[in-house]
Amino acid sequence: MTVYVKGVVFEGVEFEDPNCWHLDEYVKRGGYAALKKIINDKITQDEVIAEMKTSGLRGRGGAGFPTGLKWSFMPRSFPGQKYLVCNTDEGEPGTFKDLDIQVYNPHALIEGMIIGAYAMGITVGYNYIHGEIFEAYERFEIALEEARSAGFLGDNILGSDFCFQLHAHHGYGAYICGEETALLESLEGKKGQPRFKPPFPASFGLYGKPTTINNTETFASVPYIIREGGQKFLELGKPNNGGTKLFSVSGHVNRPGNYEIPLGTPFSELLEMCGGMRDGKKLKAVIPGGSSAPVLPADIMMQCTMDYDSIAKAGSMLGSGAVIVMDETVSMVSALERLSYFYHEESCGQCTPCREGTGWLYRVVHRIAHGEGKIEDLDLLSRVGDNIAGRTICALGDAAVFPVRGMLKHFRHEFEDLINKSQSAKAL
Ligand code: SF4
Repeated sequence: MTVYVKGVVFEGVEFEDPNCWHLDEYVKRGGYAALKKIINDKITQDEVIAEMKTSGLRGRGGAGFPTGLKWSFMPRSFPGQKYLVCNTDEGEPGTFKDLDIQVYNPHALIEGMIIGAYAMGITVGYNYIHGEIFEAYERFEIALEEARSAGFLGDNILGSDFCFQLHAHHGYGAYICGEETALLESLEGKKGQPRFKPPFPASFGLYGKPTTINNTETFASVPYIIREGGQKFLELGKPNNGGTKLFSVSGHVNRPGNYEIPLGTPFSELLEMCGGMRDGKKLKAVIPGGSSAPVLPADIMMQCTMDYDSIAKAGSMLGSGAVIVMDETVSMVSALERLSYFYHEESCGQCTPCREGTGWLYRVVHRIAHGEGKIEDLDLLSRVGDNIAGRTICALGDAAVFPVRGMLKHFRHEFEDLINKSQSAKAL
């Protein structure tokens, strides 16, 4: 996959260079300067966290929670072991940005984690890598070894008394392990199922110890913030939406790929960067933040800017930044059938509304798509969705319902037309 525009995370990366991911190349483009600045200038933990808060960086995994604030929740004076975990279990359909970070710039992630560990007084960390990406896992292990050999990682980092051991962990590919407590369970060697919350990981995380979990892109943004200053990062974007962000654009565009652009960039500009619509077709709809984000029709999407607030105001979510573009040929009934099947398959089965409800959603959409639907099915879909959303242990239940609600809100007429046509054909 190609990255077409470079911002903070891919600053200076020459993607064509097969060595661009190695330590030497990373150092040449300013890598580990932020870590050296912290150690050599004796910057305090509070100062690092304050810089993160100034940057306005929000979690890039989907929730968009302010990173500096999350780091401040870690009880730094806790006497026992504390952990730092990177969530590279990238499984949201449409998202492929964290994979490219691991492949092209793994040291940015490593440096970001080291800085995070320093700020929160943590000595052990794990990077949980999605089970289906082998090349990225292998590269990360090599990059870790390079960082250890150079004195950036391990005991007495850069001659200081700061120590941090970082390990890679290869998952098994289950979508639910991207949920942070399921990830922790999996990391502990158990079945990857979400935990009841509270307690939250900040107080009861890995092995029951205080744990901070951030996304890959979030950590990879940290070196720039510390090197250049939080204010500079903030100003790359817009208020409450600081910095640049990676968008994984897929679907009916001429150049699908990862685009790192300032938050607040108009969607119309992003579409232009992607070479416009494929085969000159018309834009019909966009899922702007990964498969669980409600779909938005073309006219609404073309008014949006690519940031958390604009997309939320339009009735959807920026989520992980996976932008799925659909042209006029797409059947929204078929699209929803595929999405509902995914969530039904990926439900961990732990709680009844999700385990049973996702099956109901899929079966009802399936029968509509295959000419067996009734007009009452549309209300049934809404009722089933209402009995799932907000009643489950983790957000997968909500994630299964949001696409249904979005489709029925904006494209109900397509579902009605298909049902009416099917019934008329049967009556003949
Ligand atoms: Fe498992 Fe679904 Fe319940 Fe989450 S909502 S814990 S995926 S059954």
